[in-house]
Amino acid sequence: MRDMFLHAADPLGLPVTALPGIGHVRGEALGQAGVLTVGDLLLNVPRRYLDRSRMPLIRDILRSPSQVRDGSVGEVTLIGTVERLATVPGRTRRAMLTLTDGTGKLSCAWFGKADWLARTFSPGDTVAVSGKLSWFRGLQMTHPDIELVGDSRDDLVHMGRIVPVYPQSSALSGVGLTSKSLRRILRKMLERLADRIPDPVAPDVRQRCSLPTLAQAIYEAHFPTSFAEASRARKRLVFDEFFGLELALARRKHRLGQNVGIAFREVGPTFEKLLRQLPFKLTEGQKQVLREIRRDMKRPTPMSRLLQGDVGSGKTLVALFSAVMAADNGYQTAIMAPTEVLAEQHALTFGRLLFEVGLESVLITGSISPAQRRRALGKVATGQVPVIIGTHALISDNTVFHRLGLVIVDEQHRFGVLQRENLRRKGANADGQAVLPDLLVMTATPIPRSLAQTLFGDLDVSILAEKPPGRQPIRTVSCPARKPERAWEALREAAQRGAQGYVVFPLIEEGEQVSAKAATSGFEELRRGPLRGCRLGLLHGRMPAAERDRVMQAFKAGEMDVLASTTVIEVGVDVPNATVMVVEGAERFGLAQLHQLRGRIGRGTRPSECYLVPGTDKLTPEAERRLAAIASSDDGFLLAEEDLDIRGPGEFFGTRQSGLPEFRLAHVVRDSDTLALARKEAFALIDDDPELAQPEHRALQGLVRPFEQAFAQIEDRTVA
Ligand code: ADP
Ligand code: MG
Repeated sequence: MRDMFLHAADPLGLPVTALPGIGHVRGEALGQAGVLTVGDLLLNVPRRYLDRSRMPLIRDILRSPSQVRDGSVGEVTLIGTVERLATVPGRTRRAMLTLTDGTGKLSCAWFGKADWLARTFSPGDTVAVSGKLSWFRGLQMTHPDIELVGDSRDDLVHMGRIVPVYPQSSALSGVGLTSKSLRRILRKMLERLADRIPDPVAPDVRQRCSLPTLAQAIYEAHFPTSFAEASRARKRLVFDEFFGLELALARRKHRLGQNVGIAFREVGPTFEKLLRQLPFKLTEGQKQVLREIRRDMKRPTPMSRLLQGDVGSGKTLVALFSAVMAADNGYQTAIMAPTEVLAEQHALTFGRLLFEVGLESVLITGSISPAQRRRALGKVATGQVPVIIGTHALISDNTVFHRLGLVIVDEQHRFGVLQRENLRRKGANADGQAVLPDLLVMTATPIPRSLAQTLFGDLDVSILAEKPPGRQPIRTVSCPARKPERAWEALREAAQRGAQGYVVFPLIEEGEQVSAKAATSGFEELRRGPLRGCRLGLLHGRMPAAERDRVMQAFKAGEMDVLASTTVIEVGVDVPNATVMVVEGAERFGLAQLHQLRGRIGRGTRPSECYLVPGTDKLTPEAERRLAAIASSDDGFLLAEEDLDIRGPGEFFGTRQSGLPEFRLAHVVRDSDTLALARKEAFALIDDDPELAQPEHRALQGLVRPFEQAFAQIEDRTVA
């Protein structure tokens, strides 16, 4: 090894090209795959292992043939000489290899394109094959792992132990780094590095969490002495990833807490008035959450709270009361929604209730007229209007607040992690001194707790579990593909009874415009065909805002029986008289989205029905799982977990969209125990040493930095 490598203070930070066996060309290719440093390579831990600690002779195995037939032999590694190689053409095209170890024969088969076999091996080669044994006209292995066995020194790395199999990412195999060559390079490297890998995590934390040192973990991850050690090693590496994120979140939270906030002194007369005028009682859940919000708002430090609740649990009302509390204390509230339709809906609901207690509100979106906009912005700037509802247009420089005290973000998963902060920066009190407004984030898609902790880790969480009383369960019916007859019938019946319904057309990949077109032609067909005689309305995102508003108002007022729509009604639309929903092309929707859509019905006291109509009878397995799940449960938290399981966390959250770095190893669901552990340790540590200034904490900067950089980038992007 080169000297540079041996004497470096931080060997993990050296470029991969410092390693023997990795020159300029390989280094370049590895760099493209994101493997830049020695540390990157070491943390490229195997995805699985082969148990080569057991290497029987074929003769030993043949002594108990019944164990081969019933599969109880399990995975083994056999070493022998290649006797014959062949390719069998035809429908069941396969490559065959016969191996002998002097005590018996084994045949191996690989189905499909296996030309590589003849290119890589020749008769006479000594190979090791690992896999499960079966019996087919003799001893056989299908699709075993196969490796050339080299000189005896090498054998200690590749044989007689649990050996790693590395993910064959195109970049690694593209530069000729097979599992075998990686194993060799890593083994040499680890022998040299030994205990010189610094550990960023202090011994007391490791001890509390029963984690091995980083050096041990890296060694055991690559060359485990047992499967138990391999899993302990993995846990340590996963811990580090979570620890970095949670430390970054804890620091954020700590910094937010240092800001000057607003102490909202009183609950206020308007609050009391609204409470008296409400046609129903607040649920216990709503009261509890409002108490939590009240407690936060009263404090001089800024509130940062996430309100989670299933669809229809009454979050809107909680938001409204919070806004009124701010108004009673002389502060403005900005409510930001992810779509224009939702903002318009909020403007309607809030507007009506606020008006009744004598408070004004305005709507600011991209599609109000310039004149309306000028007028609205004027009122916002002079403080005439206490509640401002809008889309991200609220973040734009044109919107200047007089005295912004509370920011409510109806997030519905659509804003990135930290975009909400930009609206918050517009807070200023009357004297022009900067203060940080309180923040309430609402999400309608329930998020499993472990996930809420990663993505919203800098927020306190309130959960609205219970729904307002008197809700009827929704019956969900799966129709045969393209045969929605029953569904049309249900809609016609509902109309006769004076109830209402929705028909939802799927979002088409080509975009809003094409979806709007499809919805329009679907609407025409319904009008002429199965729903002839019903009063039908059409709603999609491409309609002018005024037109959309007119349609929504008419539907709410009961002047229409059925609303045909794109997914624009997914969130926020609240018409308790609507009891039937038909979802066309149901297989195209995500699980969370179906749950949200279905949440538009079942809002009144009459029983509701949701009909799912797939557009094809050839469903993918995932689509089938989604439809089965949605039909069998209406518990949002349960469905969210199922959704996560189907899609994986990246998709579920849109981590790419959120801009957070992806984890190498950690999986927010499967590793949720380790996440909780990392979170607890991280928050305690930041409490004690927020700047990570103590000598034993300084090395943690390296874990935290990528996350803090990502946070900063997200914020810059949204300010620009
Ligand atoms: P979410 O925003 O959580 O999906 P909403 O706030 O839209 O739910 O509330 C759903 C429906 O329940 C609305 O029609 C709302 O007026 C009604 N609602 C809210 N709170 C109560 C309550 N305490 N009692 C009865 N109905 C309520
Ligand atoms: Mg709502």
